[in-house]
Amino acid sequence: MRLDLRGLLAGECRTFPVSFSLTPKQDAGNHFSALTDVRFPTPVSVLGTITNAAGYMRMTLSLDVQIVAPCARCLDDVTRSFSFDVERTVATPDMLEGLPENRIDEFAVVEDGFLDIDELLLELLETSLPMRVLCKEDCRGLCQKCGKNLNEGPCSCEQKELDPRLEPLRRLYERMKAEGQEE
Ligand SMILES: [Zn+2]
Ligand SMILES: [Zn+2]
Repeated sequence: MRLDLRGLLAGECRTFPVSFSLTPKQDAGNHFSALTDVRFPTPVSVLGTITNAAGYMRMTLSLDVQIVAPCARCLDDVTRSFSFDVERTVATPDMLEGLPENRIDEFAVVEDGFLDIDELLLELLETSLPMRVLCKEDCRGLCQKCGKNLNEGPCSCEQKELDPRLEPLRRLYERMKAEGQEE
């Protein structure tokens, strides 16, 4: 969303209401890399204000986001909702002159009277969303052998089955045991 702040900058109004929906790109290669396969079933709601108090502009927004992502253990779809608050000082490029690079992030920069805000919000989402989600705290995950979802009950894999590489050893042991009994 490109916010037209020309009126606010010119002092024609003191408060600029912000209310729009942001649809993160589902295939955004660089965004949301922390959480694999995250999807957004609904657009992100962005609500708040930008105020101008004698030249000092402050943006206060809250984001409501719903995500669907695979459980880190059983891969079942998990739906989660999050709310984030964002606060930034709004500044024009000339106000930021001379500031060290690492402080620029504290600002939302207005270019030619417009504030292009999507990138800032997407970056915020990327860093604020959890690295992984679980369908429940005690999710039992998938059987490593047959892939069955163990939340639905135990699978029929023999849990005590020996490593096949140890099979010759087991047979040798059985034979020695049998011979020992013969004596
Ligand atoms: Zn799970
Ligand atoms: Zn199994």
